[in-house]
Order: sequence, then structure tokens, then C-alpha cells
Amino acid sequence: MRTRGFDLPESDTYYTRPMPPPWSKPLEIERVSRGEAAFEFDIALAHLARVAARADQLGGSVSGVVRFGRRDGTATAEVVMHGTALMRCQRCMQPVSLPVSSSVRMALLQDAGDTAAVPEPLEPVLAAGGFVSVGELVEEELLLSLPIVPLHGAQTPCGLAAYAGAAEDETRAEAVTQRPFAALGKLLSQK
Ligand SMILES: [Zn+2]
Repeated sequence: MRTRGFDLPESDTYYTRPMPPPWSKPLEIERVSRGEAAFEFDIALAHLARVAARADQLGGSVSGVVRFGRRDGTATAEVVMHGTALMRCQRCMQPVSLPVSSSVRMALLQDAGDTAAVPEPLEPVLAAGGFVSVGELVEEELLLSLPIVPLHGAQTPCGLAAYAGAAEDETRAEAVTQRPFAALGKLLSQK
């Protein structure tokens, strides 16, 4: 029994370690768009260099699906994703957690000069050489949708982030004992 338990994780490591993540694989646009291929993904933001730089190396992750297709002779990709970006608040420099929820349809162009021909609701994306990876499309959309200057909002104001985290733990503990209103009363009295 004991030997078996030690064997399994070892062989897992052996087989998964040399493989690059599937979302980083370059896909041939003509082929995947004609085949209407779909790819699910789950990506840690730390693995997307340009997003990680924008988030000030904090992180988070997104998951979703990319569906390739065609429209008026142009290759398209629909990117649907949800997740959380952990960025640095530019007011107090503490981490701020931002929800990511995005659905966009892109036109995949092999030449920057093709932009004029893109039908209105499609977002033009340059895929030079006719190849693009799921990770590149996700990164492109994140760079457009994430705030350039991330800030804490009304729900968790600057300086109260640590306090809010503590209160959340308290609420959870109270909920276990089935007295959620006691926790709420406590929160209100502390304001
Ligand atoms: Zn802040």
C-alpha cells in the first residue's frame, strides 16, 4: 500500500513536467477556424508576461473557452472567460482583487492592413504568420479589459482591505454556528 502511494505522484511528475501548457501551443488559424475548433483553458495570470507586468506580479487566474470560426471570409475567435485578477491598488499599493468577466469576438488578421475590412462588432487582432495561441488571445483581451490604474472600490475601500478580510472570516465562522445575523450586527456596530 505504502509503495503504491509513493509511486503514483512520481509518475505523474515524470509525464507532466516536460509538457508546455496546452494554451501556449501555436494554432494554425486557417485550420482551426475552418474546423470551428474550441479550446477550454484555465490560466494563471502569472504565466502571461504582459498581464503579470500590468498586475505588478500579483496574479489571479481566468478560465473559459475559445471558439474559432469564420465570418465573411475572415477567421474569428470568440473568447469567453471568468476569473479574478489580483492587482496592486495604485492609491494604497495593497493588493486589490478584481473580477474578470468577458465575452468578445475577435477577427484574426494576418496583415495589419486588413483592419478596414473587419465587420463592426468584431475586435481586430493581428496574428502575424497565421498562427495564434489561446494564451495570446486571452492575454490580448485581458490587457484591454483590466484597468490601467487599478484601485480599491466602494465595497472594499483602501486601508480597509485587511479589516474586510478579517470580518469575512468572522462571518464564515458565525455562519457555521447558524447565526449569520449575529455577525451582521457585529459588523454594523463596528462601523
Ligand atoms: Zn487601495
